[in-house]
Amino acid sequence: MKKSVLIIKTMSDSPLILKALEFAARRHRTQLRKGLDRTPYINHPIQVASLLANFAGETDPVLLTAAILHDVIEDTVDSVKERDELKSIISAKFGEEILALTLEVTDDKTLDKKERKRLQVVNATHKSDNAKKLKIADKIMNILDITENPPADWDLQRISDYFEWADNVVAGLRGVNHKLEELFDDCLSKGRSKYGLVQIINKA
Ligand code: ZN
Repeated sequence: MKKSVLIIKTMSDSPLILKALEFAARRHRTQLRKGLDRTPYINHPIQVASLLANFAGETDPVLLTAAILHDVIEDTVDSVKERDELKSIISAKFGEEILALTLEVTDDKTLDKKERKRLQVVNATHKSDNAKKLKIADKIMNILDITENPPADWDLQRISDYFEWADNVVAGLRGVNHKLEELFDDCLSKGRSKYGLVQIINKA
């Protein structure tokens, strides 16, 4: 009985998720992932949302819709003005709750890259549970991509730095979904062993 209720709820949410897919696909239409095989960018948010729904058992339509939209603000605007316009569009199309969650997982591009990375570590514990789940799923997919299909211009040091940084971010996101956290650990350990990297124990 409980299961059929869940299916009906999920089906009623599918128009919203399809709308987000259409919107994100249009926003990312000219972009490719950084990996060697240069897949369309939209594959990444689809994989993050699918991981949350189909592996981690998450059903909240706000979470799944924000997962589809999670890189749209960060990666498809060039100015503060464009960013503000996009925020208004997302609010009008998807509502304030989905906009707020999308913003929670969006870096401030007016800051330099080093500072943005530092803030992800520092702010991780203060995020909402949905933002924590979304960020862990995002890091899992990025680590899988770097392990299986690394960007052509990334040397071993850059890969190692990314793995250590992602580990530090996820340390502050734990306690929200055990399956996701276990998968993150498993993917990270497979990535490290593929590249012959050891975990740096004494974290700053
Ligand atoms: Zn992402």
